[in-house]
Amino acid sequence: VARIIDGRAEAERVRAEVGRTVAQRKAAGLRPPGLVTILVGDDPASQVYVGRKQRESRALGFVSEQLTLPTSTTQAQLEGRIRECGARADLDGILVQLPLPPGLDADAAVLAIDPAKDVDGLHPCNQGALFLGLPGLRPCTPLGCMRLLDTTGVEVRGARAVVIGRSALVGKPVAMLLLARDATVVMCHSRTTDLAAQVAAADIVVAAAGRPGLVRGAWVKPGAVVIDVGMNRVEGKLVGDVEFAEAAERAAHITPVPGGVGPMTVAMLLRNTLEACEARERGEGKG
Ligand code: NAP
Repeated sequence: VARIIDGRAEAERVRAEVGRTVAQRKAAGLRPPGLVTILVGDDPASQVYVGRKQRESRALGFVSEQLTLPTSTTQAQLEGRIRECGARADLDGILVQLPLPPGLDADAAVLAIDPAKDVDGLHPCNQGALFLGLPGLRPCTPLGCMRLLDTTGVEVRGARAVVIGRSALVGKPVAMLLLARDATVVMCHSRTTDLAAQVAAADIVVAAAGRPGLVRGAWVKPGAVVIDVGMNRVEGKLVGDVEFAEAAERAAHITPVPGGVGPMTVAMLLRNTLEACEARERGEGKG
């Protein structure tokens, strides 16, 4: 039976590491990292997400600001506010909470973020840097997946990794991070013809499709690592993309939902903000 990968405990370790560095910075007379979260409209789920980011960043001693804009905000106004944050010396991280209300263009909004402050790693400069293997800010959930994978001690180099989902937020960057670590990566999506065969051949499975129970337990190769990114509400319960109980009987390591990848995302956002702060001090990412 698989070892359950404890995302809550690992997220706590990441927060402790970040918190220690922030405390050391303050003791050395350096300023704390600064994060601004930008929320447009009043979507309840988005309010919960930005609330969590605010709480956790404050708890670690960050300068943390919440910018709440009305649903009536125009694209030009939103981009103007994002650029203002980009110009401020005390802010290292700018997070625009997605999705935006209908009528606003998320891609254009992301383009308005200074890439050096793009702590979600979604700006084309950062996505391109990931693609090219250059330094840059990486998307938070994929970073969380890699960190959880590393807790297993399983060798990534040479492993066959199957990523299900190809979004710019999760699937593509996870695949690039795995490739950068010398895994042999297969990217699956809704047009993949034999997902079962792909999963059955995988040493590492990362499921990020947003389809409950898509990955059948019986498909999982004995001894594989299963990282389940999916967050689906089924009859009021949060479930992943993997049939957990059945997969846990075959995998060597598996993340639960909830309590797996979910808690890692905000922890990695905090780490990205600290890294953006340090990189800006070194004078990187200008121009
Ligand atoms: P997304 O943009 O909707 O992308 C879903 C991807 O899954 C697409 O590439 C799609 O393929 C693929 N897919 C859909 N049905 C499939 C099927 N039957 N077989 C194979 N592939 C299929 O979603 P996302 O933003 O990447 O998020 C994916 C999941 O992760 C969601 O459940 C989301 O809630 C969760 N998530 C969790 C966290 C966290 O913090 N834990 C963070 C972000 C997202 P096509 O490209 O062909 O359409």
